[in-house]
Amino acid sequence: MKIPTLCLAVSMILPASIHATDNLVLARQGHTDYVIVVPRKASPATRRGAQELAQHLKLMSGAEFKIVDDTAPAPDHAILLGITPPGETPDAGANTDLGADGFVIRTVGDRVSIAGPGPRGTMYGCSALLESLGVRWFTPTLTIAPASPTITLAPISTRETPAFEYREPFFAEAFDKDWAARLRLNGNTPALDESTGGKVAYAEFVHTFDSLIPPNLFEAHPEYFPLIDGRRTGGYVQRCLTNPDVLALAIAGVDRAFAARPDAVIMSVSQNDCASWCQCEACRKITDQYGAHSGLYLWFVNQVAAAIEKDHPGKLIDTLAYQFTEAPPQGIVPRNNVRVRLCPIAVCESHPYERCDFPATREYVANLAAWSRITSTLYIWHYNTDFANYLMPFPNFDEFPADLRLYQRSGVKGVFFQGAYAPGGGGSDAEMRSYVMAKILWNPSLDADAIVTEWMRGVYGPAWKPMREWFDLLHQHARVPQNHLRIYDPPGDAFFPPDVRAAGDKLFDDAMKLAESDQQRRDIAKARLWLRYVKLVMEPRDDNVLDTFLNDARSFGVTSLNEGGTLESWAQWYRSR
Ligand SMILES: [Zn+2]
Ligand SMILES: [Zn+2]
Repeated sequence: MKIPTLCLAVSMILPASIHATDNLVLARQGHTDYVIVVPRKASPATRRGAQELAQHLKLMSGAEFKIVDDTAPAPDHAILLGITPPGETPDAGANTDLGADGFVIRTVGDRVSIAGPGPRGTMYGCSALLESLGVRWFTPTLTIAPASPTITLAPISTRETPAFEYREPFFAEAFDKDWAARLRLNGNTPALDESTGGKVAYAEFVHTFDSLIPPNLFEAHPEYFPLIDGRRTGGYVQRCLTNPDVLALAIAGVDRAFAARPDAVIMSVSQNDCASWCQCEACRKITDQYGAHSGLYLWFVNQVAAAIEKDHPGKLIDTLAYQFTEAPPQGIVPRNNVRVRLCPIAVCESHPYERCDFPATREYVANLAAWSRITSTLYIWHYNTDFANYLMPFPNFDEFPADLRLYQRSGVKGVFFQGAYAPGGGGSDAEMRSYVMAKILWNPSLDADAIVTEWMRGVYGPAWKPMREWFDLLHQHARVPQNHLRIYDPPGDAFFPPDVRAAGDKLFDDAMKLAESDQQRRDIAKARLWLRYVKLVMEPRDDNVLDTFLNDARSFGVTSLNEGGTLESWAQWYRSR
């Protein structure tokens, strides 16, 4: 871990009105008499929180914070984790509306108490306290802890819960376990385990019809499969959802999946990634009854969810509202243990959805509103990258923070931000995106633009201004009302006209001159790769510019420039075009 010495004076973040003597002095001149107290039976996640506190407070101050258990009465100078301070009502322990992730941080006398009733609450409270003292985890490898031999803490009483129960930026960089835990992300993909209080673990994630009702049953039971143009059809297709055996197989499959994955809290029962729905009379009848394809799918999923509720209380069933099932039904609502996941794959991503006139976006906004009238437990699959051009800058930082607030108003409970996820990562702005997303998934009312600036100052150091100018230049073009941005668009003149490409080169030159560390120069060079990619696509080259680009991309660990492809397959395509 790289720890630059950055001097955000700790006093800067304290309210000026608080008199110094009111403050707790956690460390003085590199020493402390505070101890961190954990319950004897503390969970691994609470113990991790204690270690995070001790490690980072030492980084800041040089002081050694001992971790002790609560066998003996806690001293006055104690940071209590998961323990209600004497004389206080035990609301942090008993208040179940803090959920799995919420916490309370309070100072009582000279003591600090951090407690959340759920599996991650206390650990998240430790990360929040460190952030309030100026610690930042900007990337998986760049932690900034303000050097501060004396650490003071103003009296505090806060209670925090996240806006969304499920928070997952899906970028290769964001799969780092420590980074995810510190940023309070609880999605399915990072290797979060008991030591981090688990996660929203899926038994199986998406497109599960083939797993639940295997395609090889077609020969013996064609009736399980869709009737398409008068014939039962096998292969990669949907299922005949009104067939009672199909329902029984799905229920048994979910039961089996939860038994195999005791850590899983949710299982996907969802359509395959194709159209080919069943046109049989019974399926058509249910579809017509509810006025949309989604009616039949929800009718089926609700029955699965009802059947598994007794044996798997508290567990959830996820399903999709995707393509032919995106429009909501009438006369049926998702059960409490169902999460319907909307997947707006065709919308424009440059403009906040409510301000964009692109037809697919208008349609999606209407569908979201209609779904939100029948349920307050939606999940969203939010596409956040150009999937045909992972390295192309994707200027949607106006869009996703605004739409996260739209989601919060619409009763959404979980958001999956799908980005460049190939091994090695390297997709444009992947680390900054993941960081900003983590912050606003917890609290959508935070100022995302200010978080971008803070991230750039932290990562690029004195070179941050030209990097920010480049970011702003791209977003100026994203604000042109007719410049819609879809997730498979090639780089083009609407976003990257010749003057923008030239300005980009100059800004990267300027940034490189201002950088003061090898790490900053490397981060700037990595960001420049994204402009170099755009130029290669828009200004085809046959000389060694391609080879140099490919070598540099490899040196940054990039293994893929588009979904499903490799760096080599892209190079082959480029050379042959
Ligand atoms: Zn059917
Ligand atoms: Zn648009």
